[in-house]
Amino acid sequence: MSVYRRGMTPASECLFCGIVAGDVPADVVHDDEQTVAFRDINGQAPTHVLVVPRDHHPNAASLATAGQGGVDALVRTAAAVAAAEGVAEDYRLVFNTGAEAGQSVFHVHLHLLGGRSFTWPPG
Ligand code: AMP
Repeated sequence: MSVYRRGMTPASECLFCGIVAGDVPADVVHDDEQTVAFRDINGQAPTHVLVVPRDHHPNAASLATAGQGGVDALVRTAAAVAAAEGVAEDYRLVFNTGAEAGQSVFHVHLHLLGGRSFTWPPG
């Protein structure tokens, strides 16, 4: 059961729930019991993959609070995809939480970025 705050997307209208269900096309690179990983439509690096849980949660904290090991599953999948993409030694994982932090889709997703150098701090 996920928790919604005002302004967040219900699962019935969620783009990434549509991808998980196979109703919205995506370049899926990995799927398993808990997670689906697909290429970002506007990639910011040679490897830019989004890893999502099958269940709808608006953000990483909500997924963690659910207590099903969902965040662990996202990170495990990201590591497996990084290995498959040949970037296992150097990659960046990002959860944006909230519009001011850059979140635009309110179904938690872990960005996996690799294949180039990154700077810090981020913009
Ligand atoms: P965020 O801004 O952290 O919420 O990340 C959302 C990401 O979803 C952005 O990097 C978008 O480019 C990506 N995105 C939006 N729509 C799609 C889609 N249909 N398929 C794949 N990636 C998408």
